[in-house]
Amino acid sequence: MPERLVLLGSKGGPALRPVGPWPSSSLLEIGGRTIVVDCGLGVTRGLVDAGVNLKALDLIFITHLHSDHVLELGPLIHTAWTAGLATPVGVFGPPGTGHYWRRFCQAMEFDIEIRIVDEGRPDIRELVSVEEFGEGHVVEQRGLKVTALRVDHPPVTDCFALRFEHGAKSVVFSADTAFFPPLADFAEGADVLVHEAMLEEGIERLVARTGNGARLKEHLLASHSFAEEAGRIADTAGVKRLVLNHLIPADDSQICETEWTAAVRKTWAGDLTIARDGLVVELSSGKAAKGEGTA
Ligand SMILES: [Zn+2]
Ligand SMILES: [Zn+2]
Repeated sequence: MPERLVLLGSKGGPALRPVGPWPSSSLLEIGGRTIVVDCGLGVTRGLVDAGVNLKALDLIFITHLHSDHVLELGPLIHTAWTAGLATPVGVFGPPGTGHYWRRFCQAMEFDIEIRIVDEGRPDIRELVSVEEFGEGHVVEQRGLKVTALRVDHPPVTDCFALRFEHGAKSVVFSADTAFFPPLADFAEGADVLVHEAMLEEGIERLVARTGNGARLKEHLLASHSFAEEAGRIADTAGVKRLVLNHLIPADDSQICETEWTAAVRKTWAGDLTIARDGLVVELSSGKAAKGEGTA
């Protein structure tokens, strides 16, 4: 099975606009596992478009409980269940994830009960285990190791960057964060760093369009990173590839890949990917893959 990262949803924030990209979700296929990182709106469609059989849903990680990262968690699992999911799914998220899942199942109780009786399905509530994590060790399973770092995303305190390691490969997700230097240590030497990014020139136009100008701008500046800052983290960490993701703004006609690249090139000279929905980053090439092949 080729190892890959697929950026399913690449925009920052929950709002949708015509022909624009969708909120945050990613697929990581590493070590034979099907891993979903964040479940913003569109995650189910994104997985199906990426060729994933929803019955194979395996591990889900949520970085924090902002809706652009968690809104479709329940609907994803429920849809996988109606597609024939019969094996356990492990959900790992910050404190509050269990509450979300229990309340989702309550909201869908009528449908869940009726499908168990009418269609002979297993009880979805017994298939899913939710584990809430804090900073540090998250899970170690079949050679896959996941660790978390609390990042700087006020007013949300439980927001965690995640590092996935399997064999010689490592992929780090920054989650949503303001410029946060400890992230460079956490991401040290990773094959891929997926870092959130904001472009200064688009912020004024974005807040003008959204309507709650001053407050929104204040939140963005306090809680997110500029592309140049993402580049600085990648450079200090010495990662092999930087992927700019959770783009703010993501649907401004005056901003395209050229503008993002120009901003991040001020601080990062290495391999670079600017995310867009459905974009695939192959993990099989490079040093890590060679190491596995000769071992
Ligand atoms: Zn977000
Ligand atoms: Zn957030």
